[in-house]
Amino acid sequence: MGNLGFQFLYKYLNSLAAFSAERFFSPAPAAGRKFGGRGPLAEESGRPLRDFPVIAFSVPFENDYPAVPGILLAAGIPPMQYERGPSDPLVIAGGVSVSMNPEPLAPFLDMAFIGEVDDPGIGTMSFFSTLADALQSSRNSLADRKTFLKQFSKAPGVYVPSAYTFEYAKNGLISSIAPDAGFPVRVSAVKRRSKDAPVPVSVLFTPEAEFGESLLVETNRGCGRGCRFCAAGWIHFPVRHAQFGNFRRQVDDALDAGRTVGLIGSDLAGHPELEDILSHIVARGGNFSLSSIRPEGLTPRIIKLLAATGQKTATLAPEVASKRMKEVIGKNIPSERFYEMVGQLVAEGIPNVRFYFMVGLPTETDEDCSAIVDFVVQSRKFFVEASRNVKKIGQMSIQVNPFVPKPWTPFQWAAMERPKVLETRIRMIRQGLKGLPNLVVRVESVKQAFSQAFLSRGDRRIAGTIIHVARQDGRWATAFKNERIDPDFYALRERDPDEMFPWEVTDHGLSRDVLRRIYQKAIVRFSEG
Ligand code: SF4
Repeated sequence: MGNLGFQFLYKYLNSLAAFSAERFFSPAPAAGRKFGGRGPLAEESGRPLRDFPVIAFSVPFENDYPAVPGILLAAGIPPMQYERGPSDPLVIAGGVSVSMNPEPLAPFLDMAFIGEVDDPGIGTMSFFSTLADALQSSRNSLADRKTFLKQFSKAPGVYVPSAYTFEYAKNGLISSIAPDAGFPVRVSAVKRRSKDAPVPVSVLFTPEAEFGESLLVETNRGCGRGCRFCAAGWIHFPVRHAQFGNFRRQVDDALDAGRTVGLIGSDLAGHPELEDILSHIVARGGNFSLSSIRPEGLTPRIIKLLAATGQKTATLAPEVASKRMKEVIGKNIPSERFYEMVGQLVAEGIPNVRFYFMVGLPTETDEDCSAIVDFVVQSRKFFVEASRNVKKIGQMSIQVNPFVPKPWTPFQWAAMERPKVLETRIRMIRQGLKGLPNLVVRVESVKQAFSQAFLSRGDRRIAGTIIHVARQDGRWATAFKNERIDPDFYALRERDPDEMFPWEVTDHGLSRDVLRRIYQKAIVRFSEG
């Protein structure tokens, strides 16, 4: 529900005379991802999924991939595209992970949407208008699916996986990718270009979801900082900030309704109107929340505004702690800046501070992980001292995530660190911080990170494993064994410099040579010690 692309599309489709869109959700993992006896049912009408001629998945995270065949299977729809007949629906997917690399899901999809959804006239909006026309003129019959899909060969951002043939060399690497006649060699990602494009905001509200009662506003897309691991920064390049004038009315309506306004974006710190937006909300007696923000965005005025609205937690993402690793990842913010920030936040009345770190980045050593421990111990000193001064102590929390290399970043060539090494380094951090009062350490599971690494740089040959996982309730080890897939080939292998990547059927406007040069520069830092 916090997925604004999905909400945007839902609203847009229901504004078109040709469509009536209804929502289906995959059951939560806690419910075993199991549907009731009738399979997936629409939130609005309770109709079964099979009744709908078009199914559009919004897939922001790789670990959600098994839900795609899982939902189709539960609905009695053949999960593989080639198995579907004239009476089966069209299956489409979009979302950040699909845009980065549609190939792991390719065998399930009739079409994938590559890019951003919300520019009028191009992208998804024009795509769905064309789709409506095509469905009407074919009288909703997909008797000849191949011919039907050919109509989309030139549609901006539309990738038709069945129109591409992949060939592989004996060593398992891709040797060629060939499109059918009339289809582009690479599908260019659609990017919002119009300054007047509607700003993505929540249109659905529910008390059942986190932030479900807040108005979420995507205040920017992309990030100009170019951190080498960061997919959000690279694939949404260049950075684009939404002008406050274009979403002020929605903010005011939300404040009138007593809602909190949640500002989200990968470059909140760089938004030129951030202070004005927050001042406006506070002047109207409202509340706001911010996603993780770089320290330079936390100006004294913004910290005061955060405190004035009763914010209890601020989130900062140093990612690493040693000077060397800061240079490797290209996020070179001095540790002292973070210590200072912790003191200022607590002094102004924000009692809790959360830090994000990654382990297993390229070239990382045990010493780099010890530096994380030292950083946290040092930050905690500032935290305790400032808390003592205000006579109230909250909690410092650190979240540690194993690094997963992502397509379209300079680290797309890097191997994921081996799980055993990750476990050891995580243990080092836990032990180094053990017993410190008012400090909580949370860690993302290495197993989950490994499956994410397998999926994020996978190709269409892993679709069988994804179905297996969907059928076997998430048992990855059995799926790898039964499908005879070596997950290390996808997750733990450093890529050859000239290796052809499955995601190179898409084009995000990024030069492979530039990404490679940046990667090499990062790795050279290691040999310099
Ligand atoms: S500053 Fe944050 S959002 Fe921007 S590139 Fe770096 S990690 Fe990504």
